Amino acid sequence: MSIKSCIDAFFNLLFPRSCVVCGGCLVRGEEYVCTVCNSRMPRTNYHLLPDNEIEKRFWGKSRVERATSYFFYTKGSDYRHILYQLKYKGSKEIGEVMGRYMAKELLSSGFFQGIDFIVPVPLHPKKKKSRGYNQSEWIALGISHVTGIPVDTETLIRVVANNTQTRKSVFERWENVQHVFQVVCPENIKGKHVLIVDDVLTTGATILSCATALTKSTNVKVSIIALAVA
Ligand SMILES: [Zn+2]
Repeated sequence: MSIKSCIDAFFNLLFPRSCVVCGGCLVRGEEYVCTVCNSRMPRTNYHLLPDNEIEKRFWGKSRVERATSYFFYTKGSDYRHILYQLKYKGSKEIGEVMGRYMAKELLSSGFFQGIDFIVPVPLHPKKKKSRGYNQSEWIALGISHVTGIPVDTETLIRVVANNTQTRKSVFERWENVQHVFQVVCPENIKGKHVLIVDDVLTTGATILSCATALTKSTNVKVSIIALAVA
């Protein structure tokens, strides 16, 4: 046993880590989610399904090459704790771990083939400052660690901070996110294939706004990936 794994085992004894989904103790090699919860995760497997439900949400609105999400987000499901920890509890590292798990599973399907850059959905600088990090950026990092595709956080920026969308109608939400994002250096991504990364996909309005900003200033191809889909 190496010194590092001895130290890890010692810390585990003092501060047992628990699964964010079921609360059970994690064993060595498990990260945030235990093996049982991982195997039972309600995967979408949309990466194997052309014209899937996510792709359909963009039909007639923006050209999307491929779109998928790792798992289904349903109210009351214990898997919501993954997103809760990532967004509100400061566990940015869970984003990297889940990004890595997702990318490993999708790799052989060819989902990442031809993609030049990974672009996480940007937060407004004020929001990023108050949270301390951009959760989608951490998911993007995990994907990048598996695929080797670089993450670009400079080209697309969020210029409008609109936080409270919860009480708005679907139509208002679509309206609300137009002109929220801006491309600052179009030459960086000209003619490239960009993968937009989000944490949870609900109406798709936020990602559509990103895709519109990206495609309008450059001749880019856009694909989409989210950790969860509601
Ligand atoms: Zn568990």
